[in-house]
Amino acid sequence: MVAEPGAKRDIRKLQLTELKEFFVAHGDKAFRAQQVHEWLWKKSAKDFDAMTNLSLATRQLLQEHFTINHIQVDTMQQSADGTIKNAVKLHDGLVVESVLIPTEKRITACVSSQVGCSLGCKFCATARLKRMRNLNPDEIYDQVAAIRQQSELFFGRPLTNIVFMGMGEPLLNYNNVIAAIDKITSPHGLNMAAKRLTVSTVGIAKMIIKMADDGVKFNLAVSLHAALNPTRSSIMPINDTNTLEDLAEALKYWYAKRKRKVTYEYVVWEGINDKPSDAEALLKFCKHVPCKVNLIEYNPIEDGEFRQAGDAALQMYQHLLESNGITTRIRKSRGKDIDAACGQLANKT
Ligand code: SAH
Repeated sequence: MVAEPGAKRDIRKLQLTELKEFFVAHGDKAFRAQQVHEWLWKKSAKDFDAMTNLSLATRQLLQEHFTINHIQVDTMQQSADGTIKNAVKLHDGLVVESVLIPTEKRITACVSSQVGCSLGCKFCATARLKRMRNLNPDEIYDQVAAIRQQSELFFGRPLTNIVFMGMGEPLLNYNNVIAAIDKITSPHGLNMAAKRLTVSTVGIAKMIIKMADDGVKFNLAVSLHAALNPTRSSIMPINDTNTLEDLAEALKYWYAKRKRKVTYEYVVWEGINDKPSDAEALLKFCKHVPCKVNLIEYNPIEDGEFRQAGDAALQMYQHLLESNGITTRIRKSRGKDIDAACGQLANKT
């Protein structure tokens, strides 16, 4: 990594080995790197002065060469149902959102992977924001670390689950998402179990195959919303080049390696996918791999033309799927009053 003259490097872009090389090159001991690494990740230090077991000279040396691009929770809003939405400011001034969702049994962090999104799903508020850039691993990690602290502070309970269901498409920022997850699950980071993590995707087939090949240990959720190509293409442009057949093949490959049920996220909209034939198509799709279905509530977005279908349609879906052995849950949204629910993240704060 070559720095521009005078430019400070983001210290969390360095691997531990590189940090060791830095200290040795500056006449210090390699183990110093371990101490710094622990401050940077496990202890989420926001500046070098916080690293109190380092000498002043060492802290100054670090200060001269590096920056810590820590996120800043700019505003925090709490919903009547306890859900907390954070507006997270990045070092370059861009903003993403992250959400803490408390339930009786769990505390879930919902984190963003990109600033904005490029996929253009017609029903999603985030799609209205241009994709500005990918988040770095440390920016994803920091969102989780901040929510972990909020969880202890406001609820006196540990964070139990993490979902990549905030802004952006995690599989279009694959390397950084994987690097963040490595740190989140590492004993040198947050030490969370990979099986408590879920990555949600529109279903980019070739990336699902890559994930399977990489042997990842987290769970997979697919935002399906329709199981007929013309319908899905009309609401999710990705389906034009990444058809349901491509997706099914990728999911079979994934399941053969991962052997954990895939979750399908599915909204039922009036006049779009509320007919028995739509539910039949979903049932057929569900036969590709063991799965469960979350029928999620639609959160209306500004100027959106979509309307959530009535209870009868939801029950029609649930009945058909359940009677064919597919676990189907009707999920109520959380944090709607503060625009923190699925598809509402649009930096409105
Ligand atoms: N790009 C990834 C991660 C975002 S997850 C993905 O699509 O899976 C956000 C979830 O909320 C997705 O399941 C998305 O389809 C859903 N969603 C988007 N807009 C919504 C809305 N207005 N109401 C309810 N769910 C919505």
